[in-house]
Amino acid sequence: MSGRGCFAVNLARWGVVPYITAWTSEVMSEVAVVVRGGRIAYVDERAGDRDGAGVLWTRVGFSPGVGVPEFKSVHSLRQREAMRRRLCQVCGTPCGRSALWMLSQEEYESAEGPWPAPVMTAHPPVCPGCVERSGRLCPHLRKGYVVLRPRRVAPAAISGVLYQPTSTGLKAGAPTTIAHDDPRTRWLRAAQLHVTLEDYEVINLGNMLTTGSQARPRSGPGVSVSVSGLP
Ligand SMILES: [Zn+2]
Repeated sequence: MSGRGCFAVNLARWGVVPYITAWTSEVMSEVAVVVRGGRIAYVDERAGDRDGAGVLWTRVGFSPGVGVPEFKSVHSLRQREAMRRRLCQVCGTPCGRSALWMLSQEEYESAEGPWPAPVMTAHPPVCPGCVERSGRLCPHLRKGYVVLRPRRVAPAAISGVLYQPTSTGLKAGAPTTIAHDDPRTRWLRAAQLHVTLEDYEVINLGNMLTTGSQARPRSGPGVSVSVSGLP
């Protein structure tokens, strides 16, 4: 799964740019990565390069609205903030207790275990007011989605570039995702935060019922479904 920006062309036409979308002005800094204190570090590290757990994050410019929106790219720090502070990934407003999560059918069905097994996602929440247009315009949700209201949201994993210390220096690996408490996070240059949604209620089944495909909700006790929209 990935938290790639999902508002390809349609929202651009509409003139709305989602909060977590990266802009062309927000370039990644070409800063050298070194080993310091048994972990990777930036050669000129600054306050804000690490999160509260000490994980080093990709250093990227912060200038939303400047340049052209890159709808296929997610801004790492806004994605992390949206997850951490429950900000709507579309409009950026704090969702608080009304935070909802829209998962593609694929994400939802990837949960392992009996219903309601925790589901992991890199997509931040949406506010109730942004659900309907997200479902219509977000390409990754078009094949079917669910809207969940979880009672618990827990940090799960971090994706990014994992470095490997070698005798000839640091070697950057391919992008990967590891558990947020994996000791290897000290070698990770983080790019996106993943959470697990636990003990959730299904609020809406998107187009999973209306398509008549195999996209059936995983049934279980306590399923609360409103196919006509949000309550
Ligand atoms: Zn919103």
